[in-house]
Amino acid sequence: MTFELSIEFFPPQSPEGMEKLRATRARLAVLKPEFFSVTYGAGGSTREPTLATVMEIAAEGHHAAPHLSCIGSTREGIREMLAIFKERGIRRIVALRGDLPSGMADAGEFRYASELVAFIRAETGDSFHIEVAAYPEWHPQAKSPREDLLNFKRKVDAGANSAITQYFYNADAYEHFVDEARALGVGIPIVPGIMPIASFSKLARFSDACGAEIPRWMRRKLESFGDDAESIRAFGLDVATELCQRLIERGAPGLHFYSMNLAGLTLEICRRLGR
Ligand code: FAD
Repeated sequence: MTFELSIEFFPPQSPEGMEKLRATRARLAVLKPEFFSVTYGAGGSTREPTLATVMEIAAEGHHAAPHLSCIGSTREGIREMLAIFKERGIRRIVALRGDLPSGMADAGEFRYASELVAFIRAETGDSFHIEVAAYPEWHPQAKSPREDLLNFKRKVDAGANSAITQYFYNADAYEHFVDEARALGVGIPIVPGIMPIASFSKLARFSDACGAEIPRWMRRKLESFGDDAESIRAFGLDVATELCQRLIERGAPGLHFYSMNLAGLTLEICRRLGR
């Protein structure tokens, strides 16, 4: 199967973590992804590690896309980051609102990602390809699915070029979301985010926090494996590969892997997909 591929990392906070990520990247590089993206802690909490990781990726000859979240930030702070990205040859940004870290009271000068997208366009014209987030199972704070969809459209109207979704295991939810977006006149690519399954407890924790559903049949099965990591891995690989296959067959414009800084599962899923 042919499909566009991107892979996400989080910025390591220690020299050992950076070293491990270099090894992970070297293994994933054989997949020739369109780009590697690197997350950004809300309020600029990972500014330096994100930048350092992005610059290493670029120096290795890959396209690198920093995420940039705006909650807790000032216009001046974002302007500064954009200038650094531009000066260092970055051409793609994943623009997000982010979540205010607990204990941080000042929400800053941006309320929503659409305001960040508009700001990036106003400040830098077409210098960057802007990616935004999409939520096929709806953002947990959304007032209603309709409001969330309209808010997604605001980001597109503000100048986003493409979108990456929160991960999901219900392909129907993704397909429904894309259909509804198209009906509203949204034409940009909406790339499904894929979360390989490494551990049930971690996945359950993430999913509760970000509003992604683990369907009952999967949850029951994963629970039944207990500490049997091999069975979780085998089942998770089958589920993720089948999901990817269906998405590509039905026209998804690509796949974005949440690698969690690990190579094995992403490599195996892509191998099974014939990449
Ligand atoms: P928005 O698009 O602003 O939406 C947030 C909420 O506000 C939604 O409920 C929306 O419906 C509502 N809303 C939007 N506009 C309006 C409006 N005008 N009026 C009323 N309500 C409105 N987080 C990080 O901190 N760092 C990262 O690097 C990071 N990377 C991510 C990558 C991807 C692909 C995804 C899917 C998520 C990522 N996140 C990251 C998580 C993200 O920051 C959170 O999900 C956050 O809660 C929402 O960010 P957003 O950009 O989707 O926000």
